[in-house]
Amino acid sequence: MYNEPIFLQPEFKERIWGGTKLNEIFNYDIPFENTGECWGISGHANGANRIKNGPLQGSTLAEAWSQHRELFGNEEGAEFPLLVKILDSKRDLSVQVHPDDTYAREIEKENYGKTECWYVIDCEEGAEIIFGHHAKSQEQLASMVEQGEWDELLHRIPVKPGDFYYVPSGTIHAIGEGIQILETQQSSDITYRVYDYDRTDNNGKKRVLHLDRSLDVTNVPHENPTLERSQWTEDGIKKEKLVEEAYFTVHHWSLEEKSHGITPETYQLFSVIDGEGTLTTEIGIFSFAKGDHFIIPATVESYTLEGTASFITSVSNK
Ligand code: ZN
Repeated sequence: MYNEPIFLQPEFKERIWGGTKLNEIFNYDIPFENTGECWGISGHANGANRIKNGPLQGSTLAEAWSQHRELFGNEEGAEFPLLVKILDSKRDLSVQVHPDDTYAREIEKENYGKTECWYVIDCEEGAEIIFGHHAKSQEQLASMVEQGEWDELLHRIPVKPGDFYYVPSGTIHAIGEGIQILETQQSSDITYRVYDYDRTDNNGKKRVLHLDRSLDVTNVPHENPTLERSQWTEDGIKKEKLVEEAYFTVHHWSLEEKSHGITPETYQLFSVIDGEGTLTTEIGIFSFAKGDHFIIPATVESYTLEGTASFITSVSNK
């Protein structure tokens, strides 16, 4: 029986809006001056993580998902369902929107649309996100986009560390400059760019916009989802539920000493956003530290955590 955590080798993505904070904050050995994304837990074809330890060392998470489904509670689905990233926005990300599953399957021939959520790890004073829009009808949305009335259209919100945003598919959004977030999302790489601030790359070229598809999938009018964050102590760990919805449930866990023995109901995804410690199963003791990403397979009977650390954890609800 597979009775140990699966640690993953992060994948990094160069982005025009990226910076160097993934190195400064998480000590990652980043490959680019403008590293925008660390894909920490991914089975996606555009960046599947390799497994760092154990019997499946060297395999990708995608291979583990297709060949060892018992590790994932025999959950169904052609692809590993979730994708966990840490983003560093030195500059504004483009204003964008993602399709739902139905649109992704019909139009893009992809398995999953993209509902996502963000936990703000750190940010600069005055940092903002764009979340939703003020158009009352499809016609008004189309006309405001066409006229470039961005200040009137887009809804801006100031953010601070510890904030959490749930971004269902169809929500117009953007992460502003100076923010480091952990994103838990459906495993999809489909982005429709609505507005890119008329920026150009090193070759003077603008990035492509996808206005027709953006207008197709944007929810009108925008509705703010209601979130009820609840906190409690369980298994010797301070837990906070950030969101529970159709695709995932996401928690913040705060470990202050030693947890009780935890029996996972299904496989669990972990990203260590602060601190360090050890994880013990029947077969060994495994060290973890800030910046590590791992999965506890569904086959692990019981484990304990010890140390001082904060995690963002998630489970799939498929
Ligand atoms: Zn997005």
